[in-house]
Amino acid sequence: MTNPGKEIPYTLRVSPRARYARLKISPHEGLIVVIPQHFDKKRVPGLVESRREWIIKVQGSFDLRRLDGVSDTGEALPSRIELNGIGETWRVTYRSEARARISVREASEDELLVVGPVHDEASCRLALESWLKRRADLKLVTQLGRIASAHGFSYSSVSVRKQRSRWGSCSSKGRISLNLKLLFLPPLLVRYIMVHELCHTRHMNHSRRFWSEVAGVDPDYAAHDREMKHAWRFVPGWLVAGS
Ligand SMILES: [Zn+2]
Repeated sequence: MTNPGKEIPYTLRVSPRARYARLKISPHEGLIVVIPQHFDKKRVPGLVESRREWIIKVQGSFDLRRLDGVSDTGEALPSRIELNGIGETWRVTYRSEARARISVREASEDELLVVGPVHDEASCRLALESWLKRRADLKLVTQLGRIASAHGFSYSSVSVRKQRSRWGSCSSKGRISLNLKLLFLPPLLVRYIMVHELCHTRHMNHSRRFWSEVAGVDPDYAAHDREMKHAWRFVPGWLVAGS
């Protein structure tokens, strides 16, 4: 299934060296459109659309589940949430209470309490997702800061967002964005993604110099980069697909 008609998200990069517009797909940054400096940006959506089948095929080879919508159709709500990326496991208890909204509380250091009209599964998912976001804002952001200061990187800001097809990104202004779903990955892959994005603060490309920078901080980067192709399988099905 290909989500017909759905807009395909992409990152636009203007390259002074590019002579033609081209599309590339990386397992953790999603679709990237590289255009020459004077390329008319209005042509980009049409260009992406014309390659829709190819894009879906390549992205599908990275992870079938996230594109075919299985995650949307409802795996049951979790009774445990394993956040491998930050080394935490949470038990989840649902308690029905007459109140307008669902709230998620940390009842102890490994127990979550979901309280409110819990028969409403969709709202439970959203409430859990906001909790994940808070957890990620706390833990992933701190971890990025630690790696940056240990290796002398600087960035202008960091944000955590739930994203469909990219694990992280770094803008030319040094703004780093991390995918909320990193929480579910093995710690070494989380670290790799952070190192990768931090190295983009020095090299906005995937040149040899970029990769040797990455290797300096993560000598196993090549294996980690390969593993990223299949990393979407670590994301549990109850988490609503999409960004
Ligand atoms: Zn990159």
